[in-house]
Amino acid sequence: MVTKAYGAYAADKPLEPIDIARRPPGPHDVAINIAYCGVCHSDLHTVRSEWQGTLYPCVPGHEIVGHVTAVGSEVTGFKVGDTVGVGCLVDSCQHCASCAEGLEQFCEKGWTGTYNSPTRDRPGHTLGGYSQGIVVSDRFVLAIRHPEEQLAAVAPLLCAGITTYSPLHHWKAGPGKKVGIVGIGGLGHMGIKIAHAMGAHTVAFTTSESKREDALKLGADEVIISRTPEAMTQHAGSFDFILDTVGASHNLDAYTRLLKRDGTLCLVGVPGHPHPAPDVFTLIFGRKAIAGSLIGGIRETQEMLDFCAEKGIVADIEMITAQEIDEAYDRMVKSDVKYRFVIDIASLGA
Ligand code: NAP
Ligand code: ZN
Repeated sequence: MVTKAYGAYAADKPLEPIDIARRPPGPHDVAINIAYCGVCHSDLHTVRSEWQGTLYPCVPGHEIVGHVTAVGSEVTGFKVGDTVGVGCLVDSCQHCASCAEGLEQFCEKGWTGTYNSPTRDRPGHTLGGYSQGIVVSDRFVLAIRHPEEQLAAVAPLLCAGITTYSPLHHWKAGPGKKVGIVGIGGLGHMGIKIAHAMGAHTVAFTTSESKREDALKLGADEVIISRTPEAMTQHAGSFDFILDTVGASHNLDAYTRLLKRDGTLCLVGVPGHPHPAPDVFTLIFGRKAIAGSLIGGIRETQEMLDFCAEKGIVADIEMITAQEIDEAYDRMVKSDVKYRFVIDIASLGA
């Protein structure tokens, strides 16, 4: 099946139209007509090879929503016409201890990403959601229960939503907990909404004075401009948990100092250059932890989607055409997005 897509042939080339092939659906596959695809900063890191190892041509996109057009003979959970999503994972071994626990993102044999991963069954690499259609094993397809008119704004939940929900859930954000969200971009704005919905006292850290009012509207109880040292010092030793979504190298001590005893700073942003080494004294005096978290498993992603549907949570989006993607990337580098670009896949057909 040939599908129209948008992708890049090299790190220094703009994205352009590409025709790609999708496999015919096998017995356990679901074929999806993609309606919208969110634009994650990981797409930009990958297309521009900021993490090295990008396989070209690269078709990014792992915040996919659309409708089922065909199902394989063994598929029982989905039918033609269903509204579904696909996130960052499209395959894993299904046998290791992590897969058995529903933590496919930690598959010990290596999971298959929606793009830029070697394909398990044949030569080549996976191509993502900046495309009209995709064929995915039913184990990696998510049911979407939000109202249909919210579909475009649901797309970012498939990565930005789960990447913030999973650590907030794991470190028990909730009533009585003071939780910080650092960086109010695609991930960070979802982090504020979700931490607030979980009942935590939610504090937004931003470098952008212009996002102060928005952060309060998104659900933050307090907003701290992280470039103002006095504002930071006032909160020393007071946080149970801080989720850092910043995808650029920065000083982590500014945040570990704000943790209570036994508090955790969890990194989800993945900078192209390392952060400066953290100060050990700040960690040992207070048994503080610096941790990391990777997206979330399929079971937890469905739990997050259902939680957001129940609470009425979607992303704040700016819709773009596929042709506008390079401009969108340039704006994302300047932190100029409120708060997630979403590609209207209909624009690929134009
Ligand atoms: P984004 O929309 O570009 O948001 C990042 C935000 O970080 C910006 O809006 C900005 O917020 C802040 N920021 C940017 N540069 C900064 C700097 N130099 N110093 C301080 N703050 C800065 O990106 P995103 O899509 O949310 O992704 C964020 C990171 O998470 C990326 O590295 C991405 O690859 C990674 N990621 C990781 C996972 C995972 O599983 N761990 C999953 C998805 C994405 P303010 O204007 O508020 O300061
Ligand atoms: Zn992502």
